[in-house]
Amino acid sequence: MKTKDIMARLQAKYPGENEYLQAVQEVLESIEDVYNQHPEFEKAKIVERMVEPDRIFTFRVTWVDDKGEVQTNTGYRVQFNSAIGPYKGGLRFHRMVTPSMLKFLGFEQTFKNALTTLPMGGAKGGSDFDPKGKTDEEIMRFCQAFMLELWQCIGPDQDIPAGDVGVGGREIGYLYGMYKKLAREYNTGVLTGKGATWGGSILRPEATGFGALYFTENLLHHAGKDIKGCRVAVSGFGNVAWGASIKALELGAKVVAISGPDGVCEIPEGITKEMIDYMLVMRASNRDRVEDMATRFPDKAFFTPGKKAWSVKCDIALPCAFQNELAEEDAKQLKENGCWCCCEVSNMGCQPGAIHFFQHNGILFAPGKAVNAGGVATSGLEMTQNAEHISWSGKEVDEKLHFIMRSIHEQCVKFGTQPDGSVDYVKGANIAGFMKVAQAMLEQGTV
Ligand code: GLU
Repeated sequence: MKTKDIMARLQAKYPGENEYLQAVQEVLESIEDVYNQHPEFEKAKIVERMVEPDRIFTFRVTWVDDKGEVQTNTGYRVQFNSAIGPYKGGLRFHRMVTPSMLKFLGFEQTFKNALTTLPMGGAKGGSDFDPKGKTDEEIMRFCQAFMLELWQCIGPDQDIPAGDVGVGGREIGYLYGMYKKLAREYNTGVLTGKGATWGGSILRPEATGFGALYFTENLLHHAGKDIKGCRVAVSGFGNVAWGASIKALELGAKVVAISGPDGVCEIPEGITKEMIDYMLVMRASNRDRVEDMATRFPDKAFFTPGKKAWSVKCDIALPCAFQNELAEEDAKQLKENGCWCCCEVSNMGCQPGAIHFFQHNGILFAPGKAVNAGGVATSGLEMTQNAEHISWSGKEVDEKLHFIMRSIHEQCVKFGTQPDGSVDYVKGANIAGFMKVAQAMLEQGTV
């Protein structure tokens, strides 16, 4: 297999699908050497099959806004790979959603889910619906209209959606309500990220952020460092940034920045519990503005429009917002400002130039598919609880999450340790995920 040849073919076949092509390129580059040591993979054309989704559903979603006007959006579900379990992955509601974005996310999800140690295949879905400025009623009507089509594609042993950007507990509630009505199935295992009183797992809302910090602790420990007292810059203020901030604070770090599409809030003395709680209010308002934090806490947070979190002095950078949010110039600025570690929490949050810069300048870097896997892993734990009709305590879930993140770190070290003893976490995560999925595909024959 030659990455160059496969990429040339995919570029010709899917011109303009930039996020998808970027995600595939990153994985193929890392696995090429290992792959070529396995002629049985080549014979079964594993890579050629793995880069194509199993199937994609596309549907029209029509709903009525508060003014009585008819609105039309497009909905998608990309079922990427089912080699190690039923399709599993979130739904993203964002105005920029395209098939390319969901293909990249579904592809990443396949490897990420393989790393969790749980039996889950990869999927992703969503819509170009923009939640910004929408009322609660509009969100509900959109979710109901979306499920009117989606319900036929999903099922607790078939495909299990969850949240992602623009989809949290509120949206999962509306989606599940409509699913029950249409399918006349009362199996809560069809969606994860549910409310705690109706089948949701304790700690699922926090899990992506908590897991990211557990992974960061493991990585720092391996490098002989400690998170206590470190200044942490976080991008975004949504669910992932919220969970990451809670845990960073608990572990004795100082969150000195959060950001939004409008700019950055610098918090010189570090974020407080009260400010973290306020992130939830900001998210529920659908205003998508981080400036609201500075308005609410004028003595603690200082807003600068148009700037990113990477302009603030820090030790550790945690991108928690959106793909490609950290460019090479940002990586250079981070280094100039003393940053020595970046754990990517958002999916593909760093551009390839930024990753190369980190890797060639001695900055510890780990990719999203390892760092953020605690979210989907806890979704897997939610599915287990639903299937057994039980619910675990927060302590039980947290212990399992700790174990899973430690194991993901160990897999990265196993497959990513370089001759000089350093760990290439990108290689480690990609090879570990790939080997598991490839082996399963091989054993299941040419399908
Ligand atoms: N959207 C999350 C992710 O990127 C969670 C998916 C899930 O829980 O199924 O992994």
